[in-house]
Amino acid sequence: KQTEIDKFKGFWRLFKLGVPIDRDPGKDFLDVSDALLQEVAKVLEFPVASMLPPEAFTVSRKSFDARKSQKEPKFVYTVEMDVEKLLNLEPRTWDFISRLEPKIGVIEHMPHEKVVGDLVNVIQDTKKVDQDKVPEENGHSGSISSYKFHDTKRAKIAVVGSGPAGLFASLVLAEFGVDVTLIERGQAVEKRGGDIGALVVRKILQKESNFCFGEGGAGTWSDGKLVTRIGRNSGSVLSVMKTLVRFGAPESILVDGKPHLGTDRLIPLLRNFRQHLQDLGVKIRFGTRVDDLIVDNGHVVGVNVSDSSGKLEFSSEKLGFDAVVLAVGHSARDVYQMLLSHNTELVPKDFAVGLRIEHPQELINSIQYSKLANEVRSGRGKIPVADYKVVEYVKKEENDAQFASNRSCYSFCMCPGGQVVVTSIDPSELCINGMSFSRRASKWANAALAVTVSSKDFSALGFHGPLAGVQFQREFEQRAANMGGGNFVVPVQTVKDFMDNKLSASKLPSSSYRLGVKAANLHDLFPVQITEALQHSIMAFDQELPGFISSDALLHGVETRTSSPVQIPRNPDTFESMSLRGLYPVGEGAGYAGGIVSAAVDGMYAGFALAKSLNLYEGDI
Ligand code: FAD
Repeated sequence: KQTEIDKFKGFWRLFKLGVPIDRDPGKDFLDVSDALLQEVAKVLEFPVASMLPPEAFTVSRKSFDARKSQKEPKFVYTVEMDVEKLLNLEPRTWDFISRLEPKIGVIEHMPHEKVVGDLVNVIQDTKKVDQDKVPEENGHSGSISSYKFHDTKRAKIAVVGSGPAGLFASLVLAEFGVDVTLIERGQAVEKRGGDIGALVVRKILQKESNFCFGEGGAGTWSDGKLVTRIGRNSGSVLSVMKTLVRFGAPESILVDGKPHLGTDRLIPLLRNFRQHLQDLGVKIRFGTRVDDLIVDNGHVVGVNVSDSSGKLEFSSEKLGFDAVVLAVGHSARDVYQMLLSHNTELVPKDFAVGLRIEHPQELINSIQYSKLANEVRSGRGKIPVADYKVVEYVKKEENDAQFASNRSCYSFCMCPGGQVVVTSIDPSELCINGMSFSRRASKWANAALAVTVSSKDFSALGFHGPLAGVQFQREFEQRAANMGGGNFVVPVQTVKDFMDNKLSASKLPSSSYRLGVKAANLHDLFPVQITEALQHSIMAFDQELPGFISSDALLHGVETRTSSPVQIPRNPDTFESMSLRGLYPVGEGAGYAGGIVSAAVDGMYAGFALAKSLNLYEGDI
């Protein structure tokens, strides 16, 4: 019998276990409830659910599904079953287990446990493994799977930018023993918080410490959504998520179908991350801007930095390094310009521009949940604050022929219970985004509605060359600033008036944006093709979410920085720039990421790639 049992050992993953809302303990309960055990029993065809020992089961994913196509809203679970534990605790389940068969999307058998650790553990454990001369395979899954170490002189590397990409690159390199200097033009979160407060309350913009620049990068005063399109269960994403948990994120991000941190949780997490890097010997220099690269014989050998805080004791300094990781995000337009001065190859990239729409959160709750909307209770209730995700393909119109092929318009960076914030780094430009706190308790729901644009759109406005997309962004940011009348006042229009192409004359609905709004006709902002794509799509979104077009919904201009307008070509294996040796462009600014998690993953891989070229690591990347 033992050999029979061995065939079933390991973990079985049971998918799509639905528990109706009235039988579920609610969104914050992430253990195995009695109601969930009943669903597990159904899959196993085991007659008495109460005999199943909960200890043998772990929830690995929990989402709320209120789609209209469902008969009733429910929580949907993925559960992992440890067969050995189950048979030990309840041997009578054997008859039922022995009949289990894998079925795609319903039951999956994982005979060998996949352990994905946080990055610190992954690297430290493998170092131990290597020292003990244990065989290479160490049980870790994902692409970062096998390690061998060599001795080398201690390499000196600069990581420029402390956003998710720079932080994760620094972490990996420092864990491998590299001498890392992390250079950040903005301030540490404590001081940055004060600067952002001054911007929101007194309209004082610090050019080097704001929503884009400073510790944690653009993702700090953000919604902290940790959703990514690069495969939620991939080893690399899990490793990043576990690293975030190690530094203080709640374990629920590993289970929640739509993981979210919120600014209030990101700040202490970043402090812990910083402490860990410093414990590893990383030298962190806040308030220090990289102005130039020092290039010798086609190879980056250092950086020129200057004081960006106005309070440090140096004006400029030359620092020597073996290599430079460039993780500066896509708001550092001066860096793109500097790269061009070194003939670094930059390629314009398609991206999307649009407006940010804001509805009362109660309206979105009732559109999505109907009667259940009362259960939300500002995030304290049983079900999550409602969000939405919409997309519409807009076919090429006759008058669009010279500009672009088909476009799409989609909701982006949706922040339930959040607020609209200003992400300009220059007062003559205006651009906005959304953020939230962990409870998502504000009375507004905002999201960008973004339309894809390409180089044809840039050249139609007379913008050519590698930075055409940046010029295109700046054009609309300046127009928006002018329409608002300056001082960060945002031009707005109710969605109803936008559809009717008329100025919102009557009293405007309230906005979460704290620096002031002014009625304007947003048709005057973008070229007609983009405006029409927005109108057409909003009409379609209203079909999907009846009530989306509402006089209580306010469109804010302008959302231009949805993703990088530039890509810096790099070698896909080594991550080194194709045109400048010793330069490692990573993250969103280099055009390889579009969000917190994907930027972190890119930084992590760059760290491994660099460690590999330094002969500190030999294995897959
Ligand atoms: P960044 O985070 O932009 O970091 C770059 C860093 O480099 C900055 O700290 C900057 O100060 C520094 N730097 C730039 N130039 C220099 C220089 N010359 N010298 C020294 N330092 C320099 N994504 C999500 O996934 N979920 C969300 O909920 C979400 N919400 C967002 C809300 C807001 C308000 C904003 C602005 C963005 C949001 N994003 C969100 C996007 C996300 O923040 C970015 O995709 C991500 O931060 C990119 O990471 P990065 O490390 O590549 O660059």
